[in-house]
Amino acid sequence: MKIIYTDTLVVGAGLAGLRVAIASKERGLDTLVLSLVPAKRSHSVAAQGGMQASLANTIKGEGDDEDIHFQDTVKGSDWGCDQDVARMFAHCAPKAVRELAQWGVPWTRVTKGDRQVIVNAEKVTITEAEEAHGLINARDFGGTKKWRTCYTADGAGHSLLYAVDNKAISLGIPVHERMEALSLIHDGERCHGVIARCLITGELCAYIAKSTTIATGGYGRIYSVSTNAVICEGIGQALALDTGVATLGNMEAVQFHPTAIVPVGILTTEGCRGDGGVLRDKDGYRFMPDYEPEKKELASRDVVSRRMTEHMRKGKGVNSPYGPHLWLDITLLGQKHIDTNLREVKEICENFLGIDPVKDWIPVRPTQHYSMGGIRTKANGESPQLSGLFSVGEAACWDMHGFNRLGGNSLAETVVGGMIIGKYVADFGEQNSLVVDTDLIALFGKQLQTEVDQLIEGEGTEDPFKLKAAMQKIMMDYVGIFRNGPELELAVNQLTELLERSKNLGLKCKKRHANPELVEALRVKRMLKVAVTVACGALARTESRGAHSREDFPQRNDQDWLNRTLTRWPDANSLRPEMSYEALDVMRMELPPGYRGYGVDNAIAHPDTQKRQQQVEAILAELGDDADRYAKQAALMPFELPEEYKPRNQRFTDTVAKTDAESGEK
Ligand SMILES: Cc1cc2nc3c(=O)[nH]c(=O)nc-3n(C[C@H](O)[C@H](O)[C@H](O)COP(=O)(O)OP(=O)(O)OC[C@H]3O[C@@H](n4cnc5c(N)ncnc54)[C@H](O)[C@@H]3O)c2cc1C
Repeated sequence: MKIIYTDTLVVGAGLAGLRVAIASKERGLDTLVLSLVPAKRSHSVAAQGGMQASLANTIKGEGDDEDIHFQDTVKGSDWGCDQDVARMFAHCAPKAVRELAQWGVPWTRVTKGDRQVIVNAEKVTITEAEEAHGLINARDFGGTKKWRTCYTADGAGHSLLYAVDNKAISLGIPVHERMEALSLIHDGERCHGVIARCLITGELCAYIAKSTTIATGGYGRIYSVSTNAVICEGIGQALALDTGVATLGNMEAVQFHPTAIVPVGILTTEGCRGDGGVLRDKDGYRFMPDYEPEKKELASRDVVSRRMTEHMRKGKGVNSPYGPHLWLDITLLGQKHIDTNLREVKEICENFLGIDPVKDWIPVRPTQHYSMGGIRTKANGESPQLSGLFSVGEAACWDMHGFNRLGGNSLAETVVGGMIIGKYVADFGEQNSLVVDTDLIALFGKQLQTEVDQLIEGEGTEDPFKLKAAMQKIMMDYVGIFRNGPELELAVNQLTELLERSKNLGLKCKKRHANPELVEALRVKRMLKVAVTVACGALARTESRGAHSREDFPQRNDQDWLNRTLTRWPDANSLRPEMSYEALDVMRMELPPGYRGYGVDNAIAHPDTQKRQQQVEAILAELGDDADRYAKQAALMPFELPEEYKPRNQRFTDTVAKTDAESGEK
């Protein structure tokens, strides 16, 4: 077996993986990236809506700052996130947007003077400041207090991924395409790299590195209908599970997006609603204001998805051969706006539905979209169990999303997480040497080789495609938007049966190279473990939090469930993982648990919540009115960052205020 040595190995060439690779390479470390597909075709390319960062350039973002972005993120997470990480993130997001602008991202810019926007289904004129002209614009997105989502029309992911990949190319970072990592080499304490299989030749190759970063994206394709690309199958999460040591976090936290088109599940961006689009039922009635009077269509995604499902359950859905759906109406935005700001949506409607969204309503329903769960890491991105194993982006549970991630916070997480974790990965590379027992490499190589041999030469009878379809249906039927104990039990039982059957896979095509059936067989066993992990986590969590909604336990229960589910799979032959819980410490929270500002307010309080609230108030009172927001924040919850990212973010309003003060104007 071929062995390739490097300092930094990154598995995944999406935005998150490439940004880590850039940080490593810039520090002079030998860096190598693996990917299933060419980097520019990673799933990040499909992101439409934009990226959150508190630049406060548009008048609708006036007054925005890291504090407000942090609060939106924590409330959106339903208090399931790690608040330190949310702080690191909110602080660095403006730096990431500006860095991307320098790398060539054509962000949509502010134009001074009046412009018409649609707010709450009505035309409103807003006036942009003269000084903001040409600065990076933002749209309404993600249920945030301020307009904060920076965008390039509706192709944000496309322009970001191209810019970041071009930067990686300019630095000479090699991407080994069509190389699938299938196992992590480790000794129980330290990770040494991966064994990967070439999807073209079928050859196995060991990649040995000081650090290994998993940036393989989400696990959406364990569901039958998903907005995710077909490559988002959760193999990265399975790699960690298969170590038996590394843990996954909150795998039951799966987000459904309200507006995927019916039946194929392609996304129409939340930007449609952010820009003023509304949801209508079979009678053409705009129903969201009845459920969510304040945020309406722009409540957080978990809330909108549930409200839509509730409304369809009342018989208000439009009947179609593919089941009931609702309408997304963006006609009120007008041709010019759709042609410039929502042109990908227009193309999707024309190409996949044969309709023109300038005049026709779009059939939509909630569909699996985002994986909040993933490989559990510390704030520096490293696995707490396996030294040298890092994870970033959607693959990880760095945990700034808790049980619901806000629209626009994921693209931001990939590049912000990539920047921050990239620095820690580079530190690790500089501080550690490459020491690995070659017998260990051979052992892991042999294990994978045996697995492949058994599939090709064995007598198994199970069809991998059928097992996968069965798994996807179970996940969709029983582990979806609304969940309950009996159905989840059914899901766990049926999934474990499929897992058992996956030990007996048989292939019709016996080729060792370029064999999609073999690829499917190797993946489906791993995907099933991921699916069982999601279902077990959902069954055990007897509360409703964020996107995890239990009909039999409708309250958010901070008393018993203010924690993070951790899962490992120590016994490779077992059909179930081992679960434990990591408590979230209320006494360390900058923002103690409370009402999110939308959805149902029915939480069972944590015993420390009131105590912490009083402590927060006392700390702020002691600081007095003279303390600025930075001093207040530092007193409540200090957080760590790499030195380079500590400086404060500049906003044009600061400069204007300073100039006004200097010239004595009001
Ligand atoms: C349709 C859609 C629209 C979205 N729009 C927005 C938006 O507007 N704003 C926002 O904030 N978020 C959005 N998101 C979410 C966001 O785009 C993703 O969360 C994010 O881009 C994920 O980036 P990533 O780098 O973590 O992973 P990805 O971009 O998914 O990259 C994963 C990489 O891992 C590789 N890989 C996977 N498995 C293996 C393996 N076993 N071996 C080797 N390589 C492997 C793949 O080839 C790929 O290169 C959207 C998501 C979807 C589905």
